[in-house]
Amino acid sequence: MNVQEVLAKLKLRFPHEPEYHQAVEEVLLSIEDEYNKHPEFEKYNLIERLCIPDRIFTFRINWIDDKGVVQTNMAYRIQHSMAIGPYKGGLRFHPSVYPGLLKFLAFEQTFKNALTTLPMGGAKGGSDFDPKGKSDAEVMRFCQAFMLELWKQIGPDTDVPAGDIGVGGREVGFLFGMYKKLTRTHVGVLTGKGNEFGGSLIRPEATGYGTVYFAEEMLKLKGDSMKGKTVAISGSGNVAQYAVEKCLHLGAKPVTLSDSSGYIYDPAGIDAEKLKYVMWLKEEKRGRISEYAEKYGCKFVAGARPWEVKVDVALPCATQNELDETNAKTLIANGCICIAEGANMPSTPEAIEVIQAANILYAPGKASNAGGVATSGLEMSQNSLKLSWTREEVDARLLKIMQDIHATCVQYGKKADGSIDYVKGANVGGFMKVAKAMIAQGII
Ligand code: NDP
Repeated sequence: MNVQEVLAKLKLRFPHEPEYHQAVEEVLLSIEDEYNKHPEFEKYNLIERLCIPDRIFTFRINWIDDKGVVQTNMAYRIQHSMAIGPYKGGLRFHPSVYPGLLKFLAFEQTFKNALTTLPMGGAKGGSDFDPKGKSDAEVMRFCQAFMLELWKQIGPDTDVPAGDIGVGGREVGFLFGMYKKLTRTHVGVLTGKGNEFGGSLIRPEATGYGTVYFAEEMLKLKGDSMKGKTVAISGSGNVAQYAVEKCLHLGAKPVTLSDSSGYIYDPAGIDAEKLKYVMWLKEEKRGRISEYAEKYGCKFVAGARPWEVKVDVALPCATQNELDETNAKTLIANGCICIAEGANMPSTPEAIEVIQAANILYAPGKASNAGGVATSGLEMSQNSLKLSWTREEVDARLLKIMQDIHATCVQYGKKADGSIDYVKGANVGGFMKVAKAMIAQGII
């Protein structure tokens, strides 16, 4: 079967999963040329095997809310590929979670993890549980009930979940606590743990920092840098917050943040003091980004995304399909020269087409946001070694990994005119590693 035939068959076999189709299509079309150079791939039906997850666990969760009412949620773990290491990927708690969404994320995760240079397979999981508006006790009871079902399927050498949207340090702590109680083991079965019980320094910062390191590498190749650049960032959660922090370290000026209600535009720049407030607002108060605008007297635009602001660099750090064709055209018309994705698949296929046609710098999430999972890999290494590296050591390793991922993209994505197709570079780089491992391990 060629790439087109595999795509058509997947859509027929797994209908009503648009995000999964979108992610698979984007990867397959960009690896087609490379794939055709290797007749052995077709012999092993490699593409079809690589697109379909190894297995999917589906389970119901019961938990009791603060009013004593019994609630149910659906939950899933998609174990996509174990070709190059134990399954590895985050858990998402959000009402939009369904198997098709997690299949897209697990598929992407497989290539992303391959790019990190570390031995990690791909997975993703989560639930349609919405942590917004829930008390700490409700979140704890939900996490405990979640782990009561999941613990049998995971382990430090089998499958190592982490956080994602709606799953931060608080949730990872509750999940880890229940796993430990059930198994009587204190092992590296989850990453993103607190520093007091096996977490790695820099893991909370890693995705946001890594995204900005990647943007810096892209600009460096053009003789430019982040210094002095005005930056639009979407989201205001984990990835967005630390993207702001690294922009500040590198002398750039972040001017926007958002959440699902709208975005704030602060032309004076979000400085370290204001960032501290955002961290408190989102992590402790669990409030809305509009409160930032009230506090600092700047603009809040309800129901919109920040791509209409004139900036040099855009970092989408909220969610999938949050930057569409019109947004891409506006960013380019306003002089944006670089887009690096902190979120997973934030740009629609139409937006990517517009961005690539304009030949500005564009990094897909699987390359630019890989710093998070890479540092999770470093957390696993530290857990196995039973020691902790310093902040400086982990940060230096993170920077080196982002530079290596950038180099892989350049290796596989260089075009005739010397510019870099980072989408192709990341997809081919990740694919080749997983494909070779699968062939070596036979038909299983
Ligand atoms: P958080 O839950 O910490 O923050 C998510 C942010 O995105 C919030 O500001 C949230 O706003 C906003 N958001 C979520 N859904 C929507 C939506 N449908 N429309 C508009 N805004 C939305 O998540 P993270 O920061 O961890 O994750 C952000 C992105 O980065 C995701 O795509 C995730 O998969 C990706 N990622 C995360 C990694 C990590 O290490 N955390 C690693 C690699 C990728 P609100 O609070 O209103 O919902």
